Amino acid sequence: MTDSDCIFCKIAGGEIPSDPVYSDEQFYAFRDINPGAPTHVLIIPRKHIAHITDAGPEHRDLLGDMLLRANEIAVQEGLTEKGFRYVLNCGEWGGQSVFHIHLHILGGRALAWPPG
Ligand code: 5GP
Ligand code: ZN
Repeated sequence: MTDSDCIFCKIAGGEIPSDPVYSDEQFYAFRDINPGAPTHVLIIPRKHIAHITDAGPEHRDLLGDMLLRANEIAVQEGLTEKGFRYVLNCGEWGGQSVFHIHLHILGGRALAWPPG
């Protein structure tokens, strides 16, 4: 299922160009247009889910597979030796600006904590 108004559905469908990192039937990963770190990749399910809290038990495999795929991307991007961060923003106060779930993979420098 895709949402015709969703920019990440359009990116996954190739309608909006992006810099691809990984692609298969379930997932698409691409470089963030406004990187917050030297490596900043977004991995998304091709299926449109607006908020992580919209996911239910039927998405258990999808979400598990997304994390495992993200791990492979982190290895490919050379992030695992020094460490890196996954971020999944939800809603207004969580800083979510695109309402199609996406896991940020951030690395390539030491990251501050806590977030702003
Ligand atoms: P959020 O704030 O929702 O957690 O993250 C959305 C991310 O998507 C932001 O880091 C933003 O830079 C990125 N983004 C928004 N629009 C585009 C786009 O058209 N192309 C790419 N590659 N990234 C985008
Ligand atoms: Zn979407």
